[in-house]
Amino acid sequence: MYFVANWKMYGSLSSLNSLNKVIKFSKSKDIKKGRLIYCPPFTLIDAFSKKFKNCQIGIGGQNCHEDDDYGPYTGSINSRMLKNIGAQFVIIGHSENRAEGETDKVINLKIKSALKSKLKVIFCIGETLKEKKQKKTKSTLSKQIHFGLKNIKNKANIFIAYEPVWSIGSGVIPTHKDLFETIKFIKNKFRDKPQRVLYGGSVNPKNIINLKKVNNLDGFLVGGASQSAKKFIDIVKKTYS
Ligand code: PEP
Repeated sequence: MYFVANWKMYGSLSSLNSLNKVIKFSKSKDIKKGRLIYCPPFTLIDAFSKKFKNCQIGIGGQNCHEDDDYGPYTGSINSRMLKNIGAQFVIIGHSENRAEGETDKVINLKIKSALKSKLKVIFCIGETLKEKKQKKTKSTLSKQIHFGLKNIKNKANIFIAYEPVWSIGSGVIPTHKDLFETIKFIKNKFRDKPQRVLYGGSVNPKNIINLKKVNNLDGFLVGGASQSAKKFIDIVKKTYS
């Protein structure tokens, strides 16, 4: 199982001390190398990568520019820069960025650029509440997968993160049946080679007890709860207990 911590636009240098507990925990024999991944804001990637130097925790960015070359894009960071500063992963297509106008086409370019820079991609997909109510979940996911992964043959370094938009930060999670069916639907789109699929949306130390029973999942993308080392560790521990 993979556990990805998405810190969003939170955290400062003083947050680094809170990671000591996670570093200690990551050394326990039950946690396989690279199964815990932290995606802090860009400003903290360098500090995290130094902090995690001798441990097995992965580091990722939360987004990148679609151009892997340098260029006149004020305020942007590309995949090459992320790789250079010590990241191994990048989240692409998060609904918070889609809501700001990021299109499937741009997401596709970003994924291609990240793979070119040898980053592993956490590719977020998910339907809005309106789409869910209109029973458009499957068509939305199909479209996001089709256009997001267009002309990408080798998908070995891509993790799909199914994050229903209505679940992010709301405390509401899908039912066991709906989640199982949706993950199955996503996995069936990758018949030639099995694709890893994570779930994200309001995961916390309480609901993980039910979420972990959805046995076709490969892990979790955790937003809010991941800013507390204790909660993040609890989520991992309870997944395995
Ligand atoms: C996210 O934004 O990726 C996420 C999963 O957030 P939260 O856990 O806070 O719902």
